[in-house]
Amino acid sequence: MKILVTGGAGFIGSHTVVELAQAGHTPIILDNFSNSRPSILDGIKDILGYRPTLHTGDCTNPVFLTSVFEREHIDGIIHFAALKAVGESLEQPLRYYRNNIGSLVDLLDMALHHGVRAFVFSSSATVYGTPDMLPIPETAPRKPATSPYGNTKQIGEDILRDTTAMANGILRSSALRYFNPIGAHPSGLIGELPLGTPNNLVPYLMQTAAGKRTTLTVFGNDYPTPDGTGIRDFIHVVDLAQAHISTLESLFAAQESPETFTVYNVGTGKGTSVKELIGTFERVTGITIPYTVGSRRPGDIAACYADPQKIKKELKWEAKLSLAQALEDAWRWQQNSPKP
Ligand code: NAD
Ligand code: UDP
Repeated sequence: MKILVTGGAGFIGSHTVVELAQAGHTPIILDNFSNSRPSILDGIKDILGYRPTLHTGDCTNPVFLTSVFEREHIDGIIHFAALKAVGESLEQPLRYYRNNIGSLVDLLDMALHHGVRAFVFSSSATVYGTPDMLPIPETAPRKPATSPYGNTKQIGEDILRDTTAMANGILRSSALRYFNPIGAHPSGLIGELPLGTPNNLVPYLMQTAAGKRTTLTVFGNDYPTPDGTGIRDFIHVVDLAQAHISTLESLFAAQESPETFTVYNVGTGKGTSVKELIGTFERVTGITIPYTVGSRRPGDIAACYADPQKIKKELKWEAKLSLAQALEDAWRWQQNSPKP
């Protein structure tokens, strides 16, 4: 199948492009490089042995989108392209709504006009807010979003549900609620390329290990968790990428199903604390991480991990790679990655 991967030069998108190609599909990358660099295409080429088609442009631009859809005969879309910094979204809400919602609306319009059959949307565990239960099943209520970024994921899910409900069964869609993607391709050829100071734990930890940052701050050790630090469900990006292939293939196979929109958690089901993650990194690399304990980061919750049973049962997908493997791969990439 020919699959349009918006945001295909980004962290999760680039890994998904590789997995799509290795599963026998033809990925078509669309990216405006607002949060990625064209050099990631070199890494993809080194892994695959060829350079996938790239369309450089913005998926909020209907003229550009029309030209892509007229040139390519797209069977399915994986829509990663979005702005994703929670703090920035509070400062620039309209930029987030325009980019994240505008791109989704325009892409769905294209999908309907060009007979696209499958659409996979990047949602997030952030839609659950502070969860009432752990692990979190898909049936847990979505909580009012605390940032415009989080709101774009909730609104995005609703737009997708409503649009595919009226698509006469041709277009089917899934929203994947990612937990905490980390790691890099085991080849060390592609990985996360944070521009500026990283906000997320693992990129910050990698840069601290590499000596680019002096100290990692652990945001709070007074949470009601066994060691007092926050707990998250860290999933290897290659596992996450493979979940997209399973989802797409199920959408193509489900052409007779009355269900036009589905939601899946994509996580390991295992919670790991910030301190445990630092300890695992130190164990697998032999590098000691200098860290201090600071105050809680506003908006952070104590614990968040997935109940991944639905995707396991319905799509036969489950996470296979360990936290140790993810951290080793991220470290390999950190040592190889181009300097900003
Ligand atoms: P990323 O920033 O690495 O990748 C996003 C890519 O989209 C970038 O290459 C960027 O240049 C591109 N892009 C953004 N807006 C665009 C536009 N209008 N037109 C064309 N290209 C555009 O982010 P990622 O971590 O790979 O995240 C991918 C998706 O997953 C996003 O939708 C994000 O919100 C979601 N998500 C990420 C995480 C995470 O922790 N990384 C967690 C949950 C959900
Ligand atoms: N965290 C931390 N120091 C950092 C970045 C993150 O202690 O420099 C903690 C954060 O408080 C949370 C966990 O690490 O408990 C994961 O944070 P991240 O930003 O990676 O992902 P989030 O779960 O917030 O999306």
